[in-house]
Amino acid sequence: MDYFGSSGIRGIINEKITPELCMKVGRAVGSENKNIIIGTDPRTTADMVKSAVISGLTASGADVKDAGMVPTPTLAQATNDFDCGVMITASHNPSEYNGIKLWNPDGSSFNTQQMLEVEKRIKDQPDLPTWDKVGYVDKYRHAVDEHVESIKGLIGESLNSKVVLDCANGAGCAVTPFLLRELGCDIITLNSNPDGTFPAHNPEPTESHLKDLQKAVQNTDADIGIAHDGDADRMVAFDENGDFLDGDELLALFAKQFKDSVVVPVNSSMIIEELVDNVIRSKVGDVFVAEEIKKHDARFGGEPSGTWIFPEISYAPDGIYAAAFLIELSESMNLTEETEQLPSYPRKKESVQIQKKKDMMESLKKYYKRTYESERLNFVDGIRIDYENGWALIRASGTEPKIRITSEAKDDDHLDEIFVESKKNLLDIKEDI
Ligand code: MG
Repeated sequence: MDYFGSSGIRGIINEKITPELCMKVGRAVGSENKNIIIGTDPRTTADMVKSAVISGLTASGADVKDAGMVPTPTLAQATNDFDCGVMITASHNPSEYNGIKLWNPDGSSFNTQQMLEVEKRIKDQPDLPTWDKVGYVDKYRHAVDEHVESIKGLIGESLNSKVVLDCANGAGCAVTPFLLRELGCDIITLNSNPDGTFPAHNPEPTESHLKDLQKAVQNTDADIGIAHDGDADRMVAFDENGDFLDGDELLALFAKQFKDSVVVPVNSSMIIEELVDNVIRSKVGDVFVAEEIKKHDARFGGEPSGTWIFPEISYAPDGIYAAAFLIELSESMNLTEETEQLPSYPRKKESVQIQKKKDMMESLKKYYKRTYESERLNFVDGIRIDYENGWALIRASGTEPKIRITSEAKDDDHLDEIFVESKKNLLDIKEDI
């Protein structure tokens, strides 16, 4: 695909993301969908992108409801009453980026096939209708209330935790502080005024960006710390001691609550297999996790990046529902003890420079098929091979001329064995190419 990545169209403003491209996307979407809802995160370029997209949408005959600044999961859920949702966001990327992500009425983001169809129409630019078919724009003021009400319906209003919340000056500001208060929590907010320059910290919710939140949890004697990325589709947390609950720990903690069927990407920890009866491994990327959840009617799916999908609320990653769910969980168990009980396995990652990575992966796949039992292999995204005490994943980088080997094992000896074997296979094939 020329324009779309796995998270929609994203890039630096006035380089990749120009008003011309945004208008073309509007025309491509508006030619096939007549009732559209649109929303933005608080980026300083939101108005430019939104105006251009709306221009293309309305010119193509679509009517548009503008939900204003809302989190991505809020917009995704509101799409329920429309043909299509358009979210203007670059998620956790820095201020100079913006992007466009498209949503289906069931709250799932556009899948690969749908993105390919939109790409085709971006290039073809379907004919415009006559002047009297041009659509109109109106405000839509219910998206936040609808999202808050549906979360309240699932969680109730009897939480009583003391929570420090860091919205990263992102779109989460519009929902999470109000929601958590209504659920019964005592809230201390950090960076919870929207500001598209992200003055407090980079909006990617990694531990190193969240030092203020960690200190605030420790200094205020709070029960938990919660952080979102720029559009609040992600959520990460600190426990009552101010210890970071990393993506793999949260993934395991959530997966444990939905024991019967869970979807995780091929690169996440084997801990999940020990906790869940039926683990479905998807391609890496939240779009693919959501696709598999739908296909298998699974009850939960997620990625260690802080992306959590609970189909009981929506097929969109929802950092806001995840926050409420985690706080509820923390009131029924001690999160510190729970995460300390989880096994922790060593991991190793390495990249090998390879120019012809596509040919290389094809040859390597043939080699693995010839050499190993098929039950041990998974080709959903690269090559994943299971061993008795661990696994390895060999996968081409999406953006660089590199192939990555990732492995995890129960102890360092097995890790070395698995890693060395995988790397040898890769280098042997490289010789032949
Ligand atoms: Mg995001």
